[in-house]
Amino acid sequence: MSDKQSQLFGMNTLATRAGQERSAEGEHSELIFASSSYVFKNAAEAAARFAGDSVGNIYSRFTNPTVRVFEQRLAAMEKGERCIATSSGMGAILSTVLGLLKTGDHIVSSRSIFGTSVSLFSNILPKYGINTTFVDLTDYEDWQNAITPETKLLFLETPSNPLTEIVDIKKIADIAHEHKTLLIVDNCFCTPSLQLPLTLGADIVIHSATKYLDGQGRCIGGAIVGSDAILSDDIYTFLRTGGTTMSPFNAWVFLKGLETLSIRMRAHCENALQIADWLDNQKSVEKVYFPGLKSHPQHELAKTQQSGFGGVVSFEVKGNKSNAWQLIDSVNIFSITANLGDTKSTITHPATTTHHRLTEKQQIEAGIHPNLIRLSVGLEDVSDLISALDQVLRK
Ligand SMILES: *Cc1c(COP(=O)(O)O)cnc(C)c1O
Repeated sequence: MSDKQSQLFGMNTLATRAGQERSAEGEHSELIFASSSYVFKNAAEAAARFAGDSVGNIYSRFTNPTVRVFEQRLAAMEKGERCIATSSGMGAILSTVLGLLKTGDHIVSSRSIFGTSVSLFSNILPKYGINTTFVDLTDYEDWQNAITPETKLLFLETPSNPLTEIVDIKKIADIAHEHKTLLIVDNCFCTPSLQLPLTLGADIVIHSATKYLDGQGRCIGGAIVGSDAILSDDIYTFLRTGGTTMSPFNAWVFLKGLETLSIRMRAHCENALQIADWLDNQKSVEKVYFPGLKSHPQHELAKTQQSGFGGVVSFEVKGNKSNAWQLIDSVNIFSITANLGDTKSTITHPATTTHHRLTEKQQIEAGIHPNLIRLSVGLEDVSDLISALDQVLRK
C-alpha cells in the first residue's frame, strides 16, 4: 500500500494492510526478519549505505523490515508522516526528549501522567540540566503561565492515568504553537482507534505499544509518531545511537495487535461503560472516574474529541488503603497486575504500585488517594466482571 493509497483508506483497512510488502515467497502474513545485520553486494555498496548515499538496511539497531512494517502501519493509522518504533513506551519518551532537547531546555508537563514518566522528568532529566514544571492538566492558564523562553516541549496524556481527566488537545496545541514549542501527546489510553491527536494540532504522538496496541499482554514496546521534519534528524539519530530500538519479534506481535485494534477497543469501551455505570450506583463506592459518565467533568469534550470513552475505570471505595487492598485481594477474575490494555481485566492500587515513586505530596497533588483503585476492563463477559465486583462490594 503506497503512501497515497493509505490516505484513501479507513482505519481498519490501514490496520490490517498498511506497510506490508510481500517477499518473493508470497506470504500472506508479515514475516519476522530475525537478522541483526544485512549483507552488501560489494564494498562500494557497503560504503554508500554507511555514507547515507544509498537507502537500505545496515544493522537492526537502525532499521529492520518487520519493524518498518509496524512503523508504517502505525504512522498511517495516527495520520503521521513517520513513526519510529522503540524498545518500550519509556524508550519512546526518553528518545524524544534526549533527541530534541539539550542542557538548559525546559519541559512543561501535565502532573497527571504515567508514574514512571513523572520520575523520568523529575529525577533523571534534571541530572542533565533539563527541568520540568508540572501543571494541572485541565487548567489552561496554568499551562500558559508555566511556559518560559527555555520551554521546548509540552507533554500530556488524555485521558489521564488513572483519573481519566480530559483536556482539549487543540487548545493546548494552540498554546504550544503560540510560544513556538511542540506538543507531545501520549495516546496510550485511546490509541488511534479512539483519538487522533496529530489531526488536532499535536506535533508528536507517543505510544506504549505494551498496552492496547499489543492488546494481549505479551510484549514491551513503544512508538513515536509525527512529521518527517521533527522525527527524522535528532530523534532518529538518538535512537540508532542510544539503542532504544524495537525487536523484530515484538514488532510482529504489535502488527498482529493492530489488525484487531478497533474491534477490541470497541469491546473494551462497551464493557468499561457498563462497569462504570454499575459502580456509580454502589453505596460502598465513593467516586467513579470514567469519561463516559454524564457526571464526568469533561464528558462533553470526551464525546467530541474521542470516538469512545476507553477501557480504564478508576474508583474510590469508601474507607482507606486497607479497604482498597481488601477489595483487590478478594475480587475474583481481575488479575492483580499493573499492566493495562490486556484482554484480561486487571486491578491495580495506584498509590502503592504505578505511582509509588511519587512523594506523598506529589500523590495528593495528582489526586492518587489511598482508597483509589484502577481497573483496566478486559474482554471477559461483563456480567461475570460485575458479579465478581458485586460479591466483594456487598461485604
Ligand atoms: C505504560 C505506559 C507508559 C510506559 O510504557 P512502557 O512500555 O511500560 O515503557 C507510558 N505512558 C503510559 C500512559 C503508559 O500507560
